Amino acid sequence: MLGTFTVSRPTELGQALGLIGEDSLAYWGGTELFLAMKMQLLTPGNLVDLKGIPQLREIRMNGDELVIGAGTTHDQIATDAVIRGAAGLLSSVTSRVGNSRVRAQGTIGGNLCFAEPRSDLATVLLALDATVQLQSSSGQRRLSITEFLLGPYWTAIESEELLVAVCVPVPAATGVYLKFQFTERPSVAVTAVVSEGGQPCRLAIGAVADVPALHTAESWDQFDAASIAAGIEPVPDLTGSVTYKRHLTEVLVNKAIAAVRAGERDG
Ligand SMILES: Cc1cc2nc3c(=O)[nH]c(=O)nc-3n(C[C@H](O)[C@H](O)[C@H](O)COP(=O)(O)OP(=O)(O)OC[C@H]3O[C@@H](n4cnc5c(N)ncnc54)[C@H](O)[C@@H]3O)c2cc1C
Repeated sequence: MLGTFTVSRPTELGQALGLIGEDSLAYWGGTELFLAMKMQLLTPGNLVDLKGIPQLREIRMNGDELVIGAGTTHDQIATDAVIRGAAGLLSSVTSRVGNSRVRAQGTIGGNLCFAEPRSDLATVLLALDATVQLQSSSGQRRLSITEFLLGPYWTAIESEELLVAVCVPVPAATGVYLKFQFTERPSVAVTAVVSEGGQPCRLAIGAVADVPALHTAESWDQFDAASIAAGIEPVPDLTGSVTYKRHLTEVLVNKAIAAVRAGERDG
């Protein structure tokens, strides 16, 4: 059973920023929040429903970046023409998230803010060098995915801030995303991408440790799958031991690199 709480439905960002705080949590799809509330892991006295705020649904190009509003659902990311054209890999990954209910209701902002360690989006957004825009009543700040995700269910967001948008540099990196999954969330995910800015070869490994990890190099020859796998700290659970997850990681890293070198691209 859910406890007792009030719900506010602001229609402007400024109103929402005035309502959130320690005991007052924002939400969009509720796919994570309501489960956590049913388990009494979170017991907010007030909820702030963000779905009435049009600004948080915006998808647009802004110079050399793609800006995706925090309230954009997985389904919208998978199908929106602007996102598919600018960041096809991200669209492809979101089309494979969870189940159809989660994809219809769950958002990019909710996914990142909940910081579930087995997030597909955190892994691919790290590889794409994305940043998050946070806003409070006193101003805005921008963080990289690494700066934002501090640990399991732990981010750098303050209680008076909202995540308003996720920004992906364009032309976005392209590549492949592989995951091993036999429950509702992945046990290991690896994405290998080719980027035009900075280090050309980028490899992100997620869902296996507390936070996703990024490896970069000038060429794919410089990656050693065995030492990358040995360097991660997998979280053992019912889907596998530390040894098993390291083995899966090595296999997926080798496969992802081979695929991207062969010219395969998702999305
Ligand atoms: C059965 C199931 C399977 C799933 N499978 C996958 C999977 O395969 N891969 C994957 O990546 N994910 C998976 N998920 C997670 C899913 O992607 C996320 O649940 C979804 O994106 C969360 O979005 P939401 O809008 O529902 O978040 P909510 O539940 O509304 O919110 C989640 C948290 O974020 C906070 N929050 C939400 N929006 C904001 C905002 N704009 N600013 C500040 N704080 C905010 C809320 O306070 C809350 O703490 C799964 C979830 C379920 C239930």
